[in-house]
Amino acid sequence: LGRPPFLDVVAIEAVYGASILALHDVSLSVARGEIVALVGPNGAGKTTTLRAISNLLGAQRGALRGGTIRWQGEETRRLDPADLVARGIVQVLEGRHVFGQLTVEENLLTGGYLRRPSRRQLAEDLERVYGWFPRLRERRGALAGLTSGGEQQMVAIGRALMTRPTLLLLDEPSMGLAPIIVAEIFAIIARLNREEGLSVLIAEQSANLVLDHADRAIVLESGRVVASGPSAELAASGRLAALYLGAA
Ligand code: ATP
Repeated sequence: LGRPPFLDVVAIEAVYGASILALHDVSLSVARGEIVALVGPNGAGKTTTLRAISNLLGAQRGALRGGTIRWQGEETRRLDPADLVARGIVQVLEGRHVFGQLTVEENLLTGGYLRRPSRRQLAEDLERVYGWFPRLRERRGALAGLTSGGEQQMVAIGRALMTRPTLLLLDEPSMGLAPIIVAEIFAIIARLNREEGLSVLIAEQSANLVLDHADRAIVLESGRVVASGPSAELAASGRLAALYLGAA
């Protein structure tokens, strides 16, 4: 008996402009309740894969040229990113992109409004996010642009959680952050997964931290999947170490 369909990416090919082939025959899946890591060196195609899933490639002059992406059985090609958010897929972009001139709380609310919730639902969602990220409650009145990098990453994730996602796509959440802050953020993601069943696909260049929390990992190199399997097996195989040799 097969599992009910969740996220299925089958043999996608993505291009930028007329000639840059960024992804070649990339297939992957995420099952409900899983944390899956998408790892690989700089330029391997991690961001492109996430953008393909959330239909954001067009914004970068990219396009999906082949393959199919199905979300809970439905082909996503004709849906726009907002439709996908409404269906439960939300992406936290690389580089955080908080609204620096808005407060932490106002940033969170921008995520909440997408569902056109009642005032009461919005207040509940905000409470939930503050429950997960107590630091954001402390900083709720601060201008987001004046908060630390780690706090901004929490704001970006919290804003995404305000949409009540089923699948969270995180692009390089560790970027520019101290390892201790990254560990703190991953621990919260892992709790969201365990306690609320949130499914997560995390693109990360630095594989070691994310593998501690992921059930499975997919390794990309030059736009192709070169390895995949349970995180512990991949971490032990030496395959990743070889890929990253010399990359510090
Ligand atoms: P990074 O961690 O640096 O974002 P990545 O693994 O996410 O790396 P992608 O950003 O998906 O990799 O890039 C995959 C390939 O597509 C690279 O060769 C990159 O140069 C190319 N590429 C990415 N974005 C564009 C763009 N807007 N225009 C042209 N080429 C692009």
